[in-house]
Amino acid sequence: MQRPNRLCGRWRKFGWAQAVMHFAKSASKVVMLVRAGNFAGTMSKYLSERILSQPNVQVRFNTAVSGLDGDDHLRAITLQNLSTGKEETAAATRLFVCIGGSPNTEWAKDTAIIRNEAGYLITGADLLINGKTPACWPLQRNPMELETSVPGSFAAGDVRMGSTKRAAAAVGEGANCITYVHRYMREPKIAKV
Ligand SMILES: Cc1cc2nc3c(=O)[nH]c(=O)nc-3n(C[C@H](O)[C@H](O)[C@H](O)COP(=O)(O)OP(=O)(O)OC[C@H]3O[C@@H](n4cnc5c(N)ncnc54)[C@H](O)[C@@H]3O)c2cc1C
Repeated sequence: MQRPNRLCGRWRKFGWAQAVMHFAKSASKVVMLVRAGNFAGTMSKYLSERILSQPNVQVRFNTAVSGLDGDDHLRAITLQNLSTGKEETAAATRLFVCIGGSPNTEWAKDTAIIRNEAGYLITGADLLINGKTPACWPLQRNPMELETSVPGSFAAGDVRMGSTKRAAAAVGEGANCITYVHRYMREPKIAKV
């Protein structure tokens, strides 16, 4: 008999919804564990309806994994109801954890590159506050699109605040950065007064 696949994590990404639908094609049962109480604000209505209407997908809200058990492979997981604190053990041989991502930008703290609270690099017009460049910005002109708060230093892809977290977007931004680097190298560097 096929044991159910279980997926858990932060359901803020289209990718995780895709994963559930993908596993549902081959698994007898997919149990989706969601720590939040519902999908509100984390997934489009269309996707949540698709998942909730999939016959072999069971969605358990307010649920977290609190333990794993097995020998040479996983055999059971312990689930905790986050509302009541009650735990239960369920047979499972597969657990897929979707944990999202975080930008690896600790290095920026030693530079004048400004990041947001989550660590994403801030670029272009997003650096302006009430239309003004930040104090650390030394040039008269405003930062170019994709330019960080250090002139001539650009950010592309997932690490950039506000970027579309998709492969094609990252590649496109990388290509655009080359154009901006050339522009930066050509321009006269006029200091802010
Ligand atoms: C599970 C999952 C599924 C996805 N599915 C899709 C999909 O179907 N379609 C789609 O378009 N996008 C998808 N994405 C998103 C896509 O992978 C990203 O948008 C894309 O990879 C971003 O490219 P990037 O170059 O900005 O960052 P990354 O691909 O993350 O590349 C950054 C690189 O920098 C390296 N690095 C980090 N810190 C340092 C450092 N200090 N020094 C040197 N190197 C460093 C990292 O190791 C990594 O290799 C998915 C992402 C995930 C996690």
